[in-house]
Amino acid sequence: MKTVIGNWKMNGNIDLLHEVVPTLVQEGLGSTVGLCLPYPYLGAAHLLLREAQSGIKLGAQNVSEHPSGGHTGEISAGMLKEFGCRLVLIGHPERRSMYGETREVTARKLHAALDAGLYPVYCVGETLAQRESGKAHQQMVDELSLLAGVPTDRFAIAYEPSWAIGGGVTATAADISEMHGFIKDVLGAGTRVLYGGSVKAHNAAQVLCLGSVDGVLVGNAALSASEFLSICRIAD
Ligand code: 13P
Repeated sequence: MKTVIGNWKMNGNIDLLHEVVPTLVQEGLGSTVGLCLPYPYLGAAHLLLREAQSGIKLGAQNVSEHPSGGHTGEISAGMLKEFGCRLVLIGHPERRSMYGETREVTARKLHAALDAGLYPVYCVGETLAQRESGKAHQQMVDELSLLAGVPTDRFAIAYEPSWAIGGGVTATAADISEMHGFIKDVLGAGTRVLYGGSVKAHNAAQVLCLGSVDGVLVGNAALSASEFLSICRIAD
């Protein structure tokens, strides 16, 4: 069973939520599908999924490293759980490049999520500059060292090379297989590794058929109920 997680980023609206969730529920999709939504939509999504007794997993796109306190504008892992979240993205390349999230910060967020019993989807991937200067693997080793000793059933890795996000350039099958194989060599064969970067209905089959790909993390294409459903059907 391959996993499909949609990451809406800062997109969508409540009408889209009321279109996407019933479409997925009607199809009978369950725990292999996840939706990482903007915070304000989590409560409504939780109620819709609970009413439908759906196993689809709800997730957030970020979490505070702190459990509570004077941290204006932050959302804790405990709050996410209260609103039905089971997943949380940590260290998405957009948070690293636009919001200054360093490895020290992502490490603290990772442990806050694990401590609260959330299932982190830890995003790793090289920039174009790191790729071109031959540093992709070393920075990957540095990132993955944060997960040393964490049982592989408690998290997933999303390989998201930042040069493949949002621009319609998908990494080649050879690139994806090589990097996913490398991640599994470092963390163990049982590690679930998802690929993210311009996955669409038209190319999902080529990505999902790769043996080292355990699923996909979908950005733009998750904003269309019909396209996201097509990707879920391919993965099923
Ligand atoms: P796109 O699918 O829009 O390239 O986004 C990928 C992504 O960043 C998923 O987290």
